[in-house]
Amino acid sequence: MTDTETSARPLDIQATLSELRRTFARGTTKPLAWRLRQLRALKQMLVERGPELEDALAADLAKNATEAQLSEIGPVIGEIDHALRHLRSWVRTRRVAVPLTLAPAFGRVVREPLGVVLVIGPWNYPVQLTVTPLAGALAAGNAVVVKPSELAPATSALLARLIPQYLDRSAVRVIEGGVEETTELLRERFDHIFYTGNGAVGRIVARAAAEHLTPVTLELGGKSPVFIDDSADLAVAARRIVYAKSLNAGQTCVAPDYLLATPRTAAALLPHLKDAIAEFYGPTPQDSADFGRIVNARHFDRLTGLIADRKVSLGGGFDAETRYLEPTVIDGVDVDDPLMAEEIFGPILPIVHVSGVSDAIDIITARDKPLALYVFTARRSVERRFLRETSSGAVGINVPAAHLLVPRLPFGGVGPSGSGRYHGSYSIDTFSHTKAVLSKPLNPDTLRLIYPPFTELRDLLVRFVVARTGRSRR
Ligand code: NAD
Repeated sequence: MTDTETSARPLDIQATLSELRRTFARGTTKPLAWRLRQLRALKQMLVERGPELEDALAADLAKNATEAQLSEIGPVIGEIDHALRHLRSWVRTRRVAVPLTLAPAFGRVVREPLGVVLVIGPWNYPVQLTVTPLAGALAAGNAVVVKPSELAPATSALLARLIPQYLDRSAVRVIEGGVEETTELLRERFDHIFYTGNGAVGRIVARAAAEHLTPVTLELGGKSPVFIDDSADLAVAARRIVYAKSLNAGQTCVAPDYLLATPRTAAALLPHLKDAIAEFYGPTPQDSADFGRIVNARHFDRLTGLIADRKVSLGGGFDAETRYLEPTVIDGVDVDDPLMAEEIFGPILPIVHVSGVSDAIDIITARDKPLALYVFTARRSVERRFLRETSSGAVGINVPAAHLLVPRLPFGGVGPSGSGRYHGSYSIDTFSHTKAVLSKPLNPDTLRLIYPPFTELRDLLVRFVVARTGRSRR
């Protein structure tokens, strides 16, 4: 392991893939011991090189080091630890019962790795959302090409330098680059593509994958709503909402996108939102080392364009030079407002007034199924209505954005917010083929009892077995 080893160059894509395919074909990545070694090495990388990762995240996103540990490095270590504890049982072959017509026979469900997997990461959590899928793909025994986001260049370069130092270079490669390199990569045949990012590129990825009938996991975004009931403790709700909305300056796929509340609840909530912002970031969030910046000028202009010339309820300040955008709340936004068209992906929080639970549910269900949906309420009946009457990738009751820290919960979207899921054992489902194996001893050859010609005796026998099968299934 030397510090000079870096990522593959784009021109080497085909050679790189051939090498990974050879490694996979040799069976290098399949043994449990190899997988566990890679996971331990990945964890070691995150621990030993934590300070460098923190610096890269600060350079790319002005991400605070504590936030980097909490939302980038820590969650991946949590996932790896969980996998190290449970991988053996997750990948164990399971015996299953077989129908009487086939007895004696043995059914087995075998987990096998897919082959060479492509992981395309986004810029907003460039460590967590690149390394967690990598860990899942390795845990399932695959060779992996990792393509970090070019929009987080310091993190991309660092991952490209570190990963070859810690992981088996014959099985894991980092290919850096933007649209051109990703387009080139997508022309190749992979055994699975795991993409995190926006839906427009998600469609490009899905189309490219379709050429090779490659399965894809699409971790996309969308507008995640929050409903606040008047029964909720508004001070607690405000702190949790402000925190989840301000993490990474709002550039979080599971951040609350907009609030739904009655005019009365909204009015009562506003002072609490103001207090929470001041409590976390002081009177001038611009001076706080704990508040991030917008990733680039394009996103900054898009966000400031959304609040230009309009009356804000809280915040609204910005500085183009440092791409600072103050936590901003706009109360009484119409459902047809431009703020309600696209995912905001920044620290702007619109509040849409509703008459109550049914109205809120109607607004949510008339839109794309979101990545997450949050409900603040003290009433079980309200909670139950949202669970029953809406669909979303995940639901957080009285807590936004935290579900992705729980390795036992699947993480993924539904419909336009994504397809497929990962984390914990769900990563193994995603990155494995679940193979059916049926074996039957050659002797006694009981199948002869059901072969033609269908004599009266055989007919009776088949009917008896079919009837019994039906009964035993009831
Ligand atoms: P991004 O711009 O970094 O793009 C993601 C990846 O796609 C990058 O690796 C990039 O190189 C590649 N890419 C970009 N254009 C491409 C093209 N034309 N062809 C092929 N590849 C291309 O990230 P982004 O899309 O701006 O990320 C923000 C979006 O991602 C938001 O919508 C957010 O909600 C969503 N997101 C979802 C999750 C999730 O886990 N579901 C997590 C983070 C972000």
